[in-house]
Amino acid sequence: MIEDKNQQRTDLGQLGEFGLIEHLTQNIEIKHSSTLTGIGDDAAVLDFKDKKTVISTDLLVEGVHFDLGYVPLKHLGYKAVVVNVSDICAMNAKPTQITVSIAVSNRFPVEALDELYDGIKLAAKIYDVDIVGGDTTSSQKGMILSITAIGEADADELVYRNGANDNDLLVVTGDVGSAYMGLQVLEREKEVFKVNPNNQPDLDAYTYLIERQLKPEARKDIKELLKALEIQPTAMIDISDGLSSEIIHISKASGVGCNLYEEKIPIDPQFINVCEEFNIDSTTVAINGGEDYELLFTIKQSDYDKIKGNPNFTVIGHMTPESEGTHLITRANTKIPLKARGWNSLTENKE
Ligand SMILES: [Mg+2]
Repeated sequence: MIEDKNQQRTDLGQLGEFGLIEHLTQNIEIKHSSTLTGIGDDAAVLDFKDKKTVISTDLLVEGVHFDLGYVPLKHLGYKAVVVNVSDICAMNAKPTQITVSIAVSNRFPVEALDELYDGIKLAAKIYDVDIVGGDTTSSQKGMILSITAIGEADADELVYRNGANDNDLLVVTGDVGSAYMGLQVLEREKEVFKVNPNNQPDLDAYTYLIERQLKPEARKDIKELLKALEIQPTAMIDISDGLSSEIIHISKASGVGCNLYEEKIPIDPQFINVCEEFNIDSTTVAINGGEDYELLFTIKQSDYDKIKGNPNFTVIGHMTPESEGTHLITRANTKIPLKARGWNSLTENKE
């Protein structure tokens, strides 16, 4: 489906490991004063002075986490940075540096890694993080990509998963479910392409969903937004595995229950249309589909007026005593226990 536009193929062996690292990391600038030494020594040196340091790492394996049949390498690089930056944002911290490690088989030419790095560098620019290190090595088969993100925050700004209290409001940013349906569209088009490689897919009706899947964005803006509104969330997490799973994570860590209201869950009109087309229940996908990279957090009831009517935020439920458990309250007012089904298991259960 994705056309191979690479005319030139430079074998990785031509550059060698050191040559390749030098080639990929040329023109990388350092912008943060907390980066004392970046790429070029045995280790990076960072200085956060009196701030706390936040670190998160993620491993992406070809065939498990991504399919190069429909994920362009530039998008893969971009998304790999975004998912890590999102975890830093989920701590209410500011992302400042990343390290990038890749293992590739010799089926990839240098030009392919250039594309991957173009995506990584673009995300680093947009999210204002310094690339301060990493490693490049060969793999027997396929591509493995690991990114570590580092961030900073004042101790009293950090938000953990375990701070939610009974009666706190449950709030989500943006909308949910679209990234999962984007994946369904791409999987379907891949099958069509296998049968007829000349068939150029018409994806106009799916642009938002596909963008949510291939080029998600981390909510780096939320920390500042909440600060301006004088709201300190009591607990926070990013939505990587699905709303339901993340609610259960916060509830378990905080020792509370939760009521999530079906009618409040923010979903996009295009998402609703495509769920109908696929004959799949939109609420099921909205709560179980993952990879939205929106933020889910809890606030005190007394902060409600500060976010009321703000288009960035939707109150979707409230926390309850732990003994009441975690439930979805449907439009018909029935109570269904939430299950921790990530999007991987949802895919496996798909008929
Ligand atoms: Mg996370």
